[in-house]
Amino acid sequence: MDTRELLEWAAKYHTPNYARAPICLVRGDGARVWDSDGKEYLDFGAGIAVASLGHCHPRVTGAIREAAATLLHVSNLYHTAPQIHLAKLLCEHSFADRAFFCNSGAEANEAALKLARKYAKERHASDRYEVIATHNSFHGRTFATVTATGQEKYHHGFEPLVPGFKHVPYNDLRAMERALDNRTAAILVEPIQGEGGVHVPDDDYLPGLRKLCDESGALLILDEIQTGVARTGTLWAYEHSGIEPDIMTLAKALANGVPIGAMLAREEVARALGPGTHGSTFGGTPFVTSVALATLQTVIEEKIPERAAKMGRRLVGGLRELARGGTGIREVRGRGLLIGVELDRPVSPIVDACRGAGLLVLSAGEKVLRLAPPLIVEESHCDRALEIIGAALRSKA
Ligand SMILES: *Cc1c(COP(=O)(O)O)cnc(C)c1O
Repeated sequence: MDTRELLEWAAKYHTPNYARAPICLVRGDGARVWDSDGKEYLDFGAGIAVASLGHCHPRVTGAIREAAATLLHVSNLYHTAPQIHLAKLLCEHSFADRAFFCNSGAEANEAALKLARKYAKERHASDRYEVIATHNSFHGRTFATVTATGQEKYHHGFEPLVPGFKHVPYNDLRAMERALDNRTAAILVEPIQGEGGVHVPDDDYLPGLRKLCDESGALLILDEIQTGVARTGTLWAYEHSGIEPDIMTLAKALANGVPIGAMLAREEVARALGPGTHGSTFGGTPFVTSVALATLQTVIEEKIPERAAKMGRRLVGGLRELARGGTGIREVRGRGLLIGVELDRPVSPIVDACRGAGLLVLSAGEKVLRLAPPLIVEESHCDRALEIIGAALRSKA
């Protein structure tokens, strides 16, 4: 089947909600993918920060094969060993005591928001249900999570939104303090804003939020859907801050590309989700939890966080060098292998030029180039990516 015909069908049969690049990807291996014309690309998006161990990692593929041939699906009316092992491993390697599994980031945040409301009403008062999130955040596309998302463009046309949400500027403790009151059930933030432009807050921000929560009784929910599972150079991004959340949500990289979401919480909070209060048909099947288990074990055993930190330093160093060469780079920011490059102009022609030269990169807003390569990238991949980005910036000045 030729690519042109495929793309014509795509234009005809898909809902038009995605602005896709005109290529059709067919195969992946490590940090590389190939399109239907046989062209090779370095994948510095890894999906959207999903395929952290690279495409078709042997341990992940092995777990998929084995689980598919053993037991694909079981409802949550019964126990399965992979789900239990995954919950245990997540709790042993994080602040959390308990885990709930679902199928996406938005669903993990939905679970967190429902838990926060339920806990606050039972623990404090029946009118305590508000959640404070931040401008420029991204928390998902369902009604509650898109309401939590602090970006107008995602709300437009979908009003009325869900009641009970407020937004304050990110990285502004004063504004958060002013917004908090005895209606506040929880604060919801990303430890580093991903989609919103790769914004790393000041070192005192998360500790400041923790303190505000401790004083007021509000819960601190960290959305680590993009930052979690080693992306920022530690297993969880909150480790950089020295504090722990009450609830954390995960998804993207947790099963290296097989859809999964997870909500983790400490004991006292998690207890509010009694039998029958929440659930998911597909959440935590033996299939997906086997794959997540293989992914997480590999990340931990192979010290992937250290690798992400090291490769991140190399990339950021190279990008800062490019910034000195009159390429229109305003700022390079990020942590580990979640990197944002703010430009003095729209990023989309640069994304296209990189793709033309064999490099897939992401954007985050109008002017920010976002790099989120697989955490297994090698130095030679980073150097090649820097060459292509440098050339793209110089040719599209
Ligand atoms: C991607 C993302 C989500 C939404 O995840 P989906 O799986 O697309 O629902 C939520 N929060 C953050 C921080 C994300 O990066």
